[in-house]
Amino acid sequence: MPKVDIVILGAGAAGMMCALEAGRRGRRVVLLDHAERVGKKILISGGGRCNFTNIHCRAENFLSENPHFAKSALARFTPQDFVAMVERHGIRYHEKTLGQLFCDRSAHDIITMLERECAEAGVRILVGAKVTSVVREGRFQVRTAETIFESEALVVATGGLSIPRMGATGLGYSLAEQFGLRIIPCRPGLVPLVFSAEDRDHWCDLAGVSAEVVADARTRQGRGTFREKMLVTHRGLSGPAILQVSSYWRPGEAIEVDLAPDILVTAPLLARNARRDSAAAVLALRAVLPARMAERWVALHQPEDWTNASLAAMEQLLHTWKMMPAGTEGYAKAEVTAGGVDTAELDAKTMQSRKISGLYFIGEVVDVTGWLGGYNFQWAWASGASAGRAV
Ligand SMILES: Cc1cc2nc3c(=O)[nH]c(=O)nc-3n(C[C@H](O)[C@H](O)[C@H](O)COP(=O)(O)OP(=O)(O)OC[C@H]3O[C@@H](n4cnc5c(N)ncnc54)[C@H](O)[C@@H]3O)c2cc1C
Repeated sequence: MPKVDIVILGAGAAGMMCALEAGRRGRRVVLLDHAERVGKKILISGGGRCNFTNIHCRAENFLSENPHFAKSALARFTPQDFVAMVERHGIRYHEKTLGQLFCDRSAHDIITMLERECAEAGVRILVGAKVTSVVREGRFQVRTAETIFESEALVVATGGLSIPRMGATGLGYSLAEQFGLRIIPCRPGLVPLVFSAEDRDHWCDLAGVSAEVVADARTRQGRGTFREKMLVTHRGLSGPAILQVSSYWRPGEAIEVDLAPDILVTAPLLARNARRDSAAAVLALRAVLPARMAERWVALHQPEDWTNASLAAMEQLLHTWKMMPAGTEGYAKAEVTAGGVDTAELDAKTMQSRKISGLYFIGEVVDVTGWLGGYNFQWAWASGASAGRAV
């Protein structure tokens, strides 16, 4: 039975970062993954260019039952720390928008960097390793089809449930349950929303049309308001503004969309002697919406009369369109899994379980979910580094 100091389950972003930090400290680390290669989600991220961090990253950019939990790890390993590693490896990158850093060339560069760092730190990586059981009898015993590893510490970095075809499984959550740790119920995050049957009839033939909007969703844990693009799809709404609010959205609640941020659309119709009819309304709306969307909006919402009061009501509706989604596109299309191992179970500095000494949870499996824009990788690096320096 091979004896090591640390077994890490999951060779994704968080697991590799934890492994290289622990390995640098001279710890004997084995990193296991059931997939045939490491970091598959890194490869597909950011459209193949990996939005590897966000230079404006703060705890406010994350959802969690405890909004303060992420602060400690995010301060221990900052975007600048990751950028320093990227620069050390000569990887060229650029800021796309809103502090989002992407590789110039390919997400492969990030994987190669992490693999090199792990190799230099003496980390043993085993891919194609199916974990069949984990027990703790003094030390941890991790059984795979081929071997049983014995270790003093176990780090769970198996990610969330999103994109099962990329190797996502619920192992992290079942291990948390096995060891008696509470889990905040999981739900798909950063995911397209699906229309009700009525809205589908109204909008879905416009699939592909997009507009800049302000989308807003409120929950008990907070409120997400995002001014970005919204895209009509064959089943509902997507685009960055909608993906962002989807993480806040809960079934049975509406999201609110301002279709004409900062603009008084009906102003031209209110001018002296101006025409007041649907053609004039479409023309005014085309200042902010694509023509087809403007025409559809007016067809659905034009008033019976064109009085000042009716125009005011139409203006109000344009800025507070309440859309009641029937659901989401689910884990198959979600970029992340919200919810996960309750942060109250973990030490914020080390990510170690408060109940089970030597057991750590890092990355997406924890109830910390970032906004779109490089925040989720920054959480993976930061929580991985924090655990790797402590374990
Ligand atoms: C399409 C897409 C694009 C994205 N783009 C971005 C982006 O540009 N920027 C950003 O910040 N975030 C992005 N994300 C989110 C980001 O990829 C994740 O938040 C991040 O990868 C989480 O890191 P992790 O290490 O916790 O989990 P993962 O990266 O998912 O790694 C988990 C690892 O555990 C392994 N594993 C799972 N189950 C088992 C098991 N039973 N046995 C053994 N191993 C197992 C998996 O094979 C995987 O290698 C994107 C996500 C998707 C789906």
